[in-house]
Amino acid sequence: MICQNCGIEAPTKYVAFYQNIGALVVRFSRSIEGELCKSCIHRYFWSYTGVNCTLGWWGYISLVVTPFFILNNTFRYAMCLTMPPVPQDATAPELTDEAIDKIQPYANELIGRVNEGGKLKEVAEDIALLANVTPGQVVRFLQAVIAAQERRNS
Ligand SMILES: [Zn+2]
Repeated sequence: MICQNCGIEAPTKYVAFYQNIGALVVRFSRSIEGELCKSCIHRYFWSYTGVNCTLGWWGYISLVVTPFFILNNTFRYAMCLTMPPVPQDATAPELTDEAIDKIQPYANELIGRVNEGGKLKEVAEDIALLANVTPGQVVRFLQAVIAAQERRNS
């Protein structure tokens, strides 16, 4: 719903991509993991794949791990091909005063359902529909509530 990499409100999917650079005796690896939008998934997959295929192999351990990284990345990427693309007018959700006013009447329902273990994605979509805001704004609202609670507790 909100891309953990670029912060834009768009359909997201959980991915984990790995990159390896083998330098004979040492290795440099990198990874990205989280709920990402299709644009970020695409960008990371191709950038990591380029590095894995060219710089990934140089070293004994690298020779062993790199094929697994490439397989994992390709598999994860293939699972994302059917994802809806990022809408052209997608932006990072903003929690405006107007949005807060709209979500407030549903705050108890929102927090209650999340506390009962409801899936954030589904709950946010339901509340967004009721409150006439975007699901991303509902998530931002919830984050603000949690942050306020943590401040009170400390
Ligand atoms: Zn993104």
